[in-house]
Amino acid sequence: METVVIHLDIQTIFNEIEKLRDEMTQTLIDLIRTPAIGPESDGEGEIWKSEKLVQICKAIGLDEVQNYDASDGRVPSEKRPNIVVFLRGETDKERLWIVTHMDIVPPGEDSLWTIAKPFNPIVKDGKVYGRGSEDNTQPMVSSIFAVKAFKNLGIKPKRTVALCFVADEESGSKYGIQHLIGKGLFRKDDLVIVPDGGNSDGSFIEIAEKSSIWLKIDTIGKQAHASRPSDGLNAHRVGMEFALALDKMLHERYSDQDVLFDIPVSTFEPTKKDRNIDAINIVPGEDTTYLDGRILPRYDVDEMLKNAGSLARECEKKTGAKIRIEVVNKNIAAPPTDARAKIVLMLKEAIKRTREKDVRVGGIGGGTCAAFFRDAGIPAVVWATMDEMAHQPNEYAKIDNMVNDAKVFAYLAGQR
Ligand SMILES: [Zn+2]
Repeated sequence: METVVIHLDIQTIFNEIEKLRDEMTQTLIDLIRTPAIGPESDGEGEIWKSEKLVQICKAIGLDEVQNYDASDGRVPSEKRPNIVVFLRGETDKERLWIVTHMDIVPPGEDSLWTIAKPFNPIVKDGKVYGRGSEDNTQPMVSSIFAVKAFKNLGIKPKRTVALCFVADEESGSKYGIQHLIGKGLFRKDDLVIVPDGGNSDGSFIEIAEKSSIWLKIDTIGKQAHASRPSDGLNAHRVGMEFALALDKMLHERYSDQDVLFDIPVSTFEPTKKDRNIDAINIVPGEDTTYLDGRILPRYDVDEMLKNAGSLARECEKKTGAKIRIEVVNKNIAAPPTDARAKIVLMLKEAIKRTREKDVRVGGIGGGTCAAFFRDAGIPAVVWATMDEMAHQPNEYAKIDNMVNDAKVFAYLAGQR
């Protein structure tokens, strides 16, 4: 079909998107069936999902597809794929980037998936259940079909739209958005939206994030038979004591509130625990636990880590065990996006016009790709309509949210 420039009638686009509802649902299902799990969780990476996405985009007639693989010897394909797909608009100046991530977190405890099995999605009550459904496949499908609606109608959007599918978001983005930013792909006057967070009615635009840390805490004692514990040093007991002491110290010392943020305090949660020993009658000589911290930007994370280190030294003195704290991941909060940045104002208008809703602009805890844009001096917003099912068992995506967010994306692409 010949692409012609006509004055955009937004209602025509919305009607077209509505017609695509079933196709969108099927695409969401197909993508959930192709999981992409990073090597940190013993996965093979995003290669299969990326190939599927390229197929989907080419079938729509989007043939300007660019690959930005990051090499990673930890996965069988030895690469972490990143894909950029362009639909050219009337102007190439302020391009609209919609950035979604391909990778998902593992399903977790299988027995908790009571409605559908993680990679065998089902549709129920207007929702699609499966791992990765909401995080981040729902908005990914919205972005693809926002573009498809323009293609189907033979209308050129006002501005060039770039769909950006990235790897490695769940484990720090080194092989994903950081790789792309490093390639100099983005410009200061680009409009960047990262639909990887939001609330259930789409009335919240995130412009600031907390800093985040992931700590791995190894406690080394001495293994012994459980009937003669004094021959050893129980690393599990010391590990638990230290984890609790650290938890208490962090909550007490870093207790400020900031109303800009949806959860107005810093959060610190002991999370993962490695298996230590297979037998019940052995005193473990080693113990490993993990902590996830989301920290208000006012706090100095390095100072916080120093305090954690001093606490570990104290515990070592008291118990005779060795405690090692490894920083698995550390993201220092980027400066917030200006609440008057063009993308913020455009998105506010788009939501108002499509939903007759006023929006709140503020901060949340999740580290998303947006932080890396902000660090690079490119204003970015995080926005989507979602029930915040990310990383939970029985994760689902609401079909209405997927369809209606596609309309907002289309509005942004066509907005004068
Ligand atoms: Zn996500």
